[in-house]
Amino acid sequence: MTFDVIVVGARVAGSPTAMLLARAGHRVLLLDKATFPSDVISTHLIHVPGMALLRKWGLHDAVAGSGAPPHARFTMDFGPFAISAPPPAVDGAAHPYCVRRTVLDALLVDAARASGVTVREGAAVESLVRDDTGRVVGVRGDGFEEHARIVIGADGLRSVVAAQVGAEPYHSTPSLTACYYAYYEGVGGDGAEIYQLGDRAVVLFPTNDGQTCVFVACPIAQFHEFRADVEGSFGAALARVPAVAARIGKATRVGRLHATADVPNFFRQSAGPGWALVGDAGYHKDPVMAAGITDAFVCADLLATAIHSGLKGGDLDAAVAGYVAARDERFLPALQLTCQLAAMEPPTPEMAALFATIAASPAESTRFFGVLQGSASIPEYFAPENLARIMTAS
Ligand SMILES: Cc1cc2nc3c(=O)[nH]c(=O)nc-3n(C[C@H](O)[C@H](O)[C@H](O)COP(=O)(O)OP(=O)(O)OC[C@H]3O[C@@H](n4cnc5c(N)ncnc54)[C@H](O)[C@@H]3O)c2cc1C
Repeated sequence: MTFDVIVVGARVAGSPTAMLLARAGHRVLLLDKATFPSDVISTHLIHVPGMALLRKWGLHDAVAGSGAPPHARFTMDFGPFAISAPPPAVDGAAHPYCVRRTVLDALLVDAARASGVTVREGAAVESLVRDDTGRVVGVRGDGFEEHARIVIGADGLRSVVAAQVGAEPYHSTPSLTACYYAYYEGVGGDGAEIYQLGDRAVVLFPTNDGQTCVFVACPIAQFHEFRADVEGSFGAALARVPAVAARIGKATRVGRLHATADVPNFFRQSAGPGWALVGDAGYHKDPVMAAGITDAFVCADLLATAIHSGLKGGDLDAAVAGYVAARDERFLPALQLTCQLAAMEPPTPEMAALFATIAASPAESTRFFGVLQGSASIPEYFAPENLARIMTAS
């Protein structure tokens, strides 16, 4: 059978893209070398705009009801002061959630299947099939070859689809941090807590099963020093926040530490004849803003809309090129802010004064979290007139 669309990679980018295209009436094949449920190296914050997209897709309640608590507030603690408030609601979604990827990704694969997508788990794509003109027309793996009008790489940072088409990165910055996390029972808390400690960040994310994901980042320059004694370095970072260290001291660690220093920042060329990239495959960044899942949802929605219009009789390649332009315009400021934050340099005196002013106002704090969660414009927020408004109002 020939498909309209083949999607390679079935997690937070691939499954929603496949699901939306199947719902629009297209024949979609979704392949993943993994089987589900299964985990990936990732913590799990879904920002409110991500929950709003799940709501639009009819999946909000399933995700919200899958065992992770709603986060009532965000706290960004800078030591002398903390910005702490509920983030703003978006399109009927009120709270962020941290759903374990074992739960979230399986739910998204099931939603794709229920929408009519042909799902094959344990199917690794090894190469692309091209026609005489070089256009991508399908995929090959061990014992299978499938054809479609477009192949989408939703296959993550080390995308095989990107490698096969030679997609080049741009706006690229190498890894800036190293990341470590583990799960604990009995930490408590009513939302995401982010402690900015200069050359360490400590993050607590309440998640499924009454557990809290405890995350520590250090600058990439300190990666070797940190990993020379990983447990000691992790504990020392937590000890910098005595109240957190006390809570974790009373809690029970569940499982091992997870680690990665492979968190580069870039866009990749994401469209060409017969192919497109979505999610981490086309736009990867440091997890400092915890936005990869939410951004993958946004891009899945944009790409599915573009492909649907192309398949309906428009110009498919032009439609997909339009998706890439929209993605880049929307996310370039976020990529730049991500690199600034991931550099883990102390805030300038002006930024420190701004954060202290924001912290003093609950309404400003909520507005600020609108920027971090992606529902407010970064350039508009950091425009001189808006910064002057914030400082003057104080
Ligand atoms: C330490 C860390 C913490 C993070 N924390 C957060 C957070 O709190 N919130 C957030 O929003 N984001 C976070 N992120 C980012 C988030 O994990 C990613 O943005 C997200 O997983 C990207 O999803 P994806 O579907 O594009 O790719 P992936 O999740 O990488 O999925 C790709 C899929 O493609 C499949 N695949 C790959 N190659 C092939 C092949 N050849 N054939 C078939 N299948 C293939 C893989 O098996 C995999 O299932 C974090 C990342 C890291 C590293």
